[in-house]
Amino acid sequence: MPHIVHVAVQTPAHSAVGELLSYSCDEALPPGTLVRVPLGKRELLGVVWEAPATPDAIPDGVELRGIAAVLRGIEPLSLGWRRLVSFAAHYYQRSLGEIAVTALPPQLRDMTPEQLARRLAPPKAAKSGKSRKAKTEEGIEKAAIDTPPPPDTPLLALSAEQAAVFTQIEQNPGPFLLYGSTGSGKTEVYLRAVQAVLDANPEAQALVMVPEINLTPQLEQRFIARFVPQYGQDAVVSMHSGMTHPQRLKSWLAAHTGRARIVLGTRMAIFASLQQLALIVVDEEHDASYKQQEGARYSARDLAIWRARDSGSKVILGSATPSLESWHASDPEVGRYLRLAMPSRIGSASLPRVRLVDMSQQPRRAVFSPPLIEAITERVRRGEQSLILLNRRGFAPVLFCADCNWKSDCPHCSAHQVFHKGDRTLRCHHCGFTQRVPFVCPGCGNPDILPLGKGTEQLQEELERLLRNVQRPDGDPARVARIDADTTKAKGSLAEQLAQVHAGDVDVLVGTQMVAKGHDFRRITLVAAVQPDSALYSSDYRAPERLFCLLMQAAGRAGRDAQYVQAQGSHPEMWIQTHEPQNAVYTALRKHDYPAFARRQLQERLDAGMPPYAFQAIVRADARSQEAAQGFLAAATQVARDAGLPYLDEVFIYPPIPMAVQRVANVERAQMLLEAGNRSALLRFLNAWQQYLHWLRARPEHKALVRWLVDVDPLSI
Ligand code: ADP
Ligand code: ZN
Ligand code: ZN
Repeated sequence: MPHIVHVAVQTPAHSAVGELLSYSCDEALPPGTLVRVPLGKRELLGVVWEAPATPDAIPDGVELRGIAAVLRGIEPLSLGWRRLVSFAAHYYQRSLGEIAVTALPPQLRDMTPEQLARRLAPPKAAKSGKSRKAKTEEGIEKAAIDTPPPPDTPLLALSAEQAAVFTQIEQNPGPFLLYGSTGSGKTEVYLRAVQAVLDANPEAQALVMVPEINLTPQLEQRFIARFVPQYGQDAVVSMHSGMTHPQRLKSWLAAHTGRARIVLGTRMAIFASLQQLALIVVDEEHDASYKQQEGARYSARDLAIWRARDSGSKVILGSATPSLESWHASDPEVGRYLRLAMPSRIGSASLPRVRLVDMSQQPRRAVFSPPLIEAITERVRRGEQSLILLNRRGFAPVLFCADCNWKSDCPHCSAHQVFHKGDRTLRCHHCGFTQRVPFVCPGCGNPDILPLGKGTEQLQEELERLLRNVQRPDGDPARVARIDADTTKAKGSLAEQLAQVHAGDVDVLVGTQMVAKGHDFRRITLVAAVQPDSALYSSDYRAPERLFCLLMQAAGRAGRDAQYVQAQGSHPEMWIQTHEPQNAVYTALRKHDYPAFARRQLQERLDAGMPPYAFQAIVRADARSQEAAQGFLAAATQVARDAGLPYLDEVFIYPPIPMAVQRVANVERAQMLLEAGNRSALLRFLNAWQQYLHWLRARPEHKALVRWLVDVDPLSI
């Protein structure tokens, strides 16, 4: 008598196939077992799951297909991991199979049991008959393994603030919000907290998350230096999308088997299989990168809180500018998180002085105000570095003809094509459409088409011109470099360019938000935001929060090394060029007063009934026409009303509207906001609604629909 197994598989996104598929198998497979199963003509990776409470009756005469293969050699995934996947699927309105399979290393998806067995075999046994591909992969891995462990670094004596915070973490269950200034030594606290859990239990594991891949190398180095000498090479592994598939599988297996004691990674690491998880750290917890913006739109930070509670682990969220959600949760009156503060920088380093330049008092059209240029010049002459921040790459956001008003619009999107001077192209940053710059205006033949507005490329050019006669202490001319998505396309180029900055080869660095976060620059004493105002006029209610964070983080790059600053006799400064020097964002920033800023913002959110005082979800529809997109959303609302879905009276559904960038790559986009005062009402409503949305999507009147999706706790509306 064959057994019936229930398997979570990733079915195609447009299909409404239920949560689990049933297969027959000669043996009883424990939940968590990895299997390969047939689906249509294909064979897919799946995870054996618990039988549903009320399994679908299998109609007489229908014969279940058999499991194609069992991936033996990998221990079944734990109940804790399956609970995490179930929760994420339920909360973010996706199928169990999608979350489960995307949470596994991609290489497992196409592996046969034989390939897996070879992969798991000790290296020697698999020596003969290797494909060239397998050999190169092994070459890559060897190189990673063969780098010798760095020497053990002596333990730093904790500062008084670090010690106090560490004691609190030891003595309380958490969750903790570590609110520590930039340069206050949060990383050292994480290292100690990890050490403590590893010391307490010889099998314990820790998960440490950072928002972006480009921040992992520095953190990786510090964790490797601290823990590899104690626990061996395999003890610290990374997980991020910059790794090759074989590397990812290797890290995943090390975590799954318990060999890895510490997993460092980006948001995807939240789904790592860690059977002995004891601590989760979420560094820069406010960062938007923790929110996955494609496919299953989960928040790794929020899942970290859930996973820690479910697994009885501690969790530390760290930031100099916490998200308003976490700040609110750690309000002593709310008391969901324990707030721990480290206001001072390490050593005698002080936070940079913030200088607001009122641009209405400066020469018209100047990108750099004269006093700012003077301050940068002074730094170059002293051999100090400056960082110029502008969140817009390219030379100019748009080309423009003054005669006929022609603008370089993207033919496929409701957006301008950005002028890139370096390769004389017009590029759309939404769909990627690229054209040569026209010689004359395509509208009227005018040869004088002009760049409008500034991008990083133009700032670099402008600075090179302004500083052309300025010399460094060694007599060389000032060097201006730029780091943004355009200069760092090639693998490894970001690390290379950062290394040049660290080595002092660069005097002035122009960059986007990419360089504003996290980096431990030692010689930067001036940071300037040249045109930050546009965020003040955004319709997105989170824009001020994001601007404040970005500027505070950017300020955190200046004057990090107290000894250097002292030896130079320098005064670290953060310059902000603005037309609104009285704006509350800037006045709070000038005092480095995050609490005042947060208090004000939270009051506004409370008055307006916005998160964290309300809960939101967005339903988005993409279609061939805006009418079809909005039509689907309107029909979705109607169907919810007609069906009398539960909790409908607790959920406010706004009318559909076009998205801010309405058309991308010839697809029209619309969205609809849902709001509720109660999280579980919103969730229950969404869960009941799902199957109606799938049903509606399959109707012939919605065939112009390209896709629909639900975004729970959206980051921007
Ligand atoms: P944060 O993560 O809060 O911005 P870091 O952890 O990067 O700050 O610390 C800033 C700098 O101070 C780093 O160079 C770090 O090595 C150093 N540091 C941290 N803690 C100590 C300590 N207790 N004693 C001396 N130096 C420290
Ligand atoms: Zn023209
Ligand atoms: Zn486009």
